[in-house]
Amino acid sequence: MLKNKVALITGSTSGIGLGIARKFASMGATLAINGFGDVDEIQGIVTELSQTSNAPVKYYPTDMSDGDAIDAMMATIATELGAIDILVNSAGIQHVSPIEEFPTDKWNAIIAINLTSSFHTTRAVVGAMKSRGWARIINIASAHSLAASPYKSAYVAAKHGIAGLTKTIALETAEHGITVNAVSPGYVLTPLVSAQIPATAQARGITEEEVVRDVLLAAQPTKEFITIQDVAHTVAFLCEDAAKGITGTNISMDGGWTAK
Ligand code: NAD
Repeated sequence: MLKNKVALITGSTSGIGLGIARKFASMGATLAINGFGDVDEIQGIVTELSQTSNAPVKYYPTDMSDGDAIDAMMATIATELGAIDILVNSAGIQHVSPIEEFPTDKWNAIIAINLTSSFHTTRAVVGAMKSRGWARIINIASAHSLAASPYKSAYVAAKHGIAGLTKTIALETAEHGITVNAVSPGYVLTPLVSAQIPATAQARGITEEEVVRDVLLAAQPTKEFITIQDVAHTVAFLCEDAAKGITGTNISMDGGWTAK
């Protein structure tokens, strides 16, 4: 279904971004992947994705906190793979701290990676997307684009920002066959989250099941994680023709978190 479509997924060496890359590969897309990690592991990911998609897959190690580097990456992708049809902004980091102690460098990095990088990638692709008359931009936001939690000021500010950017670009591109949407998961069991469970259980003297239910998923009425595969499936649906009228939305996948 995505044969001959070129997709860039930022932050796709791990977690949700990698899940989306795998889904797109299964649909035959040409892929630009990005993110940090072990060189051999990333090479393995590229090989796996290209075998699945039977289409070109290239890795771009660009630091998504660096606007000039992003602009250069976007030009290189257009030259090496062709015009981008599908842009998924998924790169993200987190830092948890009370505002009085929040380090300036952490604030700046979160705003740069979780928000400003999407300005750079989007600005670079929209012109060509308009002239081609079909495109999808999907921003992986968060339940934190709609609701706050204490000690996550930069993350919540960046995610509320990406929700606003999504709506704005949707309006600017609405007559050009382009849809722009945010997908907002609650807690997803990415490697980062799962690694914390045993240590938290030990520190609190509770079972791993209790950590999941009473600590991690306290905000999530279903008490179940959102899966990477379900997020990827929703992103893939937004690429279908049947989703052409869905633009400017923020799709919650949070087990009821933001219904409260
Ligand atoms: P993850 O840590 O598994 O993946 C993050 C990806 O971003 C990795 O590929 C990493 O290398 C990349 N990245 C980080 N800093 C980068 C930089 N400076 N330049 C380039 N790449 C960089 O995390 P995840 O849980 O898959 O998160 C992906 C997105 O989903 C993020 O935007 C996050 O805010 C959002 N999200 C995650 C959850 C969750 O519970 N895991 C919930 C809602 C939203």
